[in-house]
Amino acid sequence: HREEEMEKQGWGLRKLVLVPCPFQGHINPMLQLGNLLHAIGFSITVAHTRFNFPNPDNHPDFTFLPIQDTLFDRDASSMDVTDVISCLNISCKAPLKNSLTQIMEREKEDHSHKLPCIIYDGSMYFAEAVAHELELPSIMLRTTSAATFLTYYSFPQLLREGYLPLQEAMSLALVPGLYPLRFKDLPIANFKNKNLDILLQQTTRTSDIRSSSAIICNTIDCLEQSSLARLQQQCKVPVFPIGPLHTIVPTASSGLLKDDRSCIEWLDKQTHNSVLYVSLGSIASMNKNELREMAKGLTNSRQPFLWVLRPGSLLPDDFNELIGERGLIVKWAPQKEVLAHKAIGGFWSHCGWNSTLESICAGVPMICQPCFGDQRVNARLLTHVWKVGLAMDSSLVSIEIEKAIRRLMLDVEGHELRRKIINLKEKIELCTQEGASFYNSLSELRKCILSC
Ligand code: UDP
Repeated sequence: HREEEMEKQGWGLRKLVLVPCPFQGHINPMLQLGNLLHAIGFSITVAHTRFNFPNPDNHPDFTFLPIQDTLFDRDASSMDVTDVISCLNISCKAPLKNSLTQIMEREKEDHSHKLPCIIYDGSMYFAEAVAHELELPSIMLRTTSAATFLTYYSFPQLLREGYLPLQEAMSLALVPGLYPLRFKDLPIANFKNKNLDILLQQTTRTSDIRSSSAIICNTIDCLEQSSLARLQQQCKVPVFPIGPLHTIVPTASSGLLKDDRSCIEWLDKQTHNSVLYVSLGSIASMNKNELREMAKGLTNSRQPFLWVLRPGSLLPDDFNELIGERGLIVKWAPQKEVLAHKAIGGFWSHCGWNSTLESICAGVPMICQPCFGDQRVNARLLTHVWKVGLAMDSSLVSIEIEKAIRRLMLDVEGHELRRKIINLKEKIELCTQEGASFYNSLSELRKCILSC
């Protein structure tokens, strides 16, 4: 109603400039958020790097604004994620500031326009600095779980109390105040060859709200109530749980690789709940030996499987013989559609936050094999809080893999995990119905954007 009144008076709704972090697991939720905010009347501009940017043709309602950064694809592909993020935060600041200044100049004459509001991925903290310098409002989007974000605030204390750098002997001990996380689950664990100071600087910077007016988290009360409550106590600004974003509005693909749709036809021929879907997301990778053990374990389990192996994976020489007839390998799958397929009975996952939410919302129980970053936190939530996943031993031995697959796909234990994850899925469906907690949170966010 207020929106109609504003329009009658010649007031447009606010222009939002989204600044996604250019990795698949970050681009997806940011564009899903863009679709949601567009559906409630905001105009959306996506300011993107030249590296890994989404296809504008899939998003005809959005305006795309390239940031003329100095990081090229060929540089970025040889760097690790934390280094790319550091570089982007240095090289994108001035070009974003220039582009926004030009937009503001153009719109200065039109008094009906409010200043744009910047919604930036927490990892792209240069965008907050630009907003601050241009006196524009800004809001941070967190694309991880609330539980992960909460861990960032504990690092200064853990450092003071001598728990950091992490010690091998303490890796299985519980982290004080972060039950049920163990030290090895912390998102700064398991970054090989990384200097702790650099990781801590980055996490401190990404969790520092500075001049932003609010935080949006891609999560929901009924999944993470206590973490959200603690996060709200920790932060000086409102925290809005707006998720799971992929379930709210139909969204065109924002995939950086082309979906191989042949897997859907293949799934159509398989029996109900029989197929294990295997994917380690868009970044994690395995060496030849790990891939050999995975292939042996999958084949020996005698369950059909659909396995995403991204281009560039280095396969062992005997890979095709190991795979046999039961499995289908694709380079990139339409994951949400795969998880919703009735033939899928389980998901062996690296537990990226998007994959975690997508599996829960499809009611598919998981084998949890986190590799780095926030994945261990998510895996711990899946196995020890919601109890809808099995933990896979990180040593990856084929006999253990085979056992885990059989436990998930064939045993009573797997049935119980499936029952629990379907319960969780139904709870989320209730909370995202009109009038329920999701819409209250969205309405509060809308007010916040209009008033900041
Ligand atoms: N994804 C996909 N097809 C694939 C593999 C992954 O569409 O074959 C999507 C998946 O649905 C999810 C995203 O890529 O939305 C991966 O994000 P996630 O947070 O799970 O992991 P990350 O790639 O960031 O490690």
